[in-house]
Amino acid sequence: MNEPGLPTPEQLQQKLNEFMHSHFGDKVSVAAVPHTQPEASEPEPDSVNDRTKIFEFSYTPRDIKRHLDRFVIKQEAAKRVLSIAVCDHYNHARFVERNRAKQNETIEYAKQNVILIGPTGVGKTYLVKHIAELIGVPFVKADATKFSETGYVGGDVEDLVRELVQKANGDVALAEHGIIYIDEVDKIATSGNLIGRDVSGRGVQTTLLKLMEETEVPLRSQSDIQSQIQAVMEFQKRGKVQRESINTRHILFIVSGAFDRLKEIIGRRVRESSIGFAAEPGSAMEDSEMFQKVTTRDLIDYGMEPEFIGRLPVRVICEPLIADDLFEIMKRSEGSILHQYERAFHAYGIEASFEDNALRRIAEMAAQENTGARSLLTICERLLRNFKYELPGSGVTSLRVSGRLIDEPDAVLKELLKSGHAERGSALTVSARQFVRRFSEKHGVTVTFEDGAVERLVERCLAEDINMQELCERLFKDYQFGLQLIQKNHGKDSFVIGADAVEDPDGVLSRWVVASYRDEEKPPVINPDV
Ligand code: ADP
Repeated sequence: MNEPGLPTPEQLQQKLNEFMHSHFGDKVSVAAVPHTQPEASEPEPDSVNDRTKIFEFSYTPRDIKRHLDRFVIKQEAAKRVLSIAVCDHYNHARFVERNRAKQNETIEYAKQNVILIGPTGVGKTYLVKHIAELIGVPFVKADATKFSETGYVGGDVEDLVRELVQKANGDVALAEHGIIYIDEVDKIATSGNLIGRDVSGRGVQTTLLKLMEETEVPLRSQSDIQSQIQAVMEFQKRGKVQRESINTRHILFIVSGAFDRLKEIIGRRVRESSIGFAAEPGSAMEDSEMFQKVTTRDLIDYGMEPEFIGRLPVRVICEPLIADDLFEIMKRSEGSILHQYERAFHAYGIEASFEDNALRRIAEMAAQENTGARSLLTICERLLRNFKYELPGSGVTSLRVSGRLIDEPDAVLKELLKSGHAERGSALTVSARQFVRRFSEKHGVTVTFEDGAVERLVERCLAEDINMQELCERLFKDYQFGLQLIQKNHGKDSFVIGADAVEDPDGVLSRWVVASYRDEEKPPVINPDV
């Protein structure tokens, strides 16, 4: 039943189409909205089932760290600090939920939002993704720069929260406990020489701030006509208002950035404060050591708004990865890209394996690119691209990635293909012999291939990339009748097929048949070479 005064979906659609037509002509129209919504994506508000997932949270920081250790190499401090922050956050959410009845008590809690500082490709996203997967909450990632470039700042940032609902398959309660990860926040810094960015940078920081604290985000974007129509239709269908907004109180926010200039800011401060303390002249501090000393003041000097930084109490420093770390990532991480390559080759029946000295070389090359573990994929892709193209179907059944393969990839590929051809050749020879044996048994004649015929058949299989059975069936499809006819004329049942019959099977067969009529009295052993 429609509420008085509310249009039916059809009326609404018609009105909107009229409006669009009068303003934009035929170019724009409103797509029809489906009448029914999938029930699964419409959980009842405050449904107990949705919430139990998160409120059964019983991990310890040690559990989480142990899980991360399986995938993330190094970043020991980051793994520990994140594990603690995540446990605190979800234990608090569980506590609040269990004490919901005691409405009057105010529970003091400072939210454990996190700022991850570290160069690109060192595992920041990887850490957060694995945490979200382990504890079963939705996870959304975006770059802060995406927001500063649009004019419509607030709306976009709120889209992240709505995206969590999508990731949670419409389960709003679960989405309210998801993780939002915003990378490149250093790019929305307001100080320094980033003139022109300042205004929007500050704007984005302020909007993010509101989300990080606590706010209600409408489930339907005001700028999205389609979702507005959907809301009206839902109201009509159910006769009651569904959840209209999503609360951000228990959403865990993790922001990150490389903060390149931060080293200088910290360095300057440390040098200034150590004057008079007999600072060792020329004692150079490692980058990661320097980052460990970061203070709120340094981040504000960098260009982050004090209120913004204030909402990010957990600071985590991720270290740059050196060649040894990259080696360990390939060798020991459960998410190693080597598994990806092993699977890719395995799909073509090729067992790939990697020698340690090759992995060391790859790690060294990757370390020089300064993009952390990301460059491992780039290097391996470049190195193995030709192998991925040439080896499938070549007869090669194993690929050992050795130091020599890295030094001389073309030569190694050539050798492999040669051995693959030989291997495939012998397999094809066996198939050819099997074909004539089966042919003989089936049709009551004795047929053999001359060596020259087998060689030619193998060559053709390799060149045409087909199997022996297929080729022989095609070439010798009329031989059953032809040979049986000759057998009838001559009484002869032994035939030897030579290389010329591979080139011109029908021609050879018809010559034999004609000959068998001519020489009816003295049947020869029909051998095309004689
Ligand atoms: P960023 O620090 O820029 O967020 P990512 O976490 O996205 O980098 O890393 C890119 C990829 O590199 C990951 O998906 C993962 O496969 C690999 N990787 C990066 N750092 C590590 C690490 N410390 N241990 C294991 N794998 C890593």
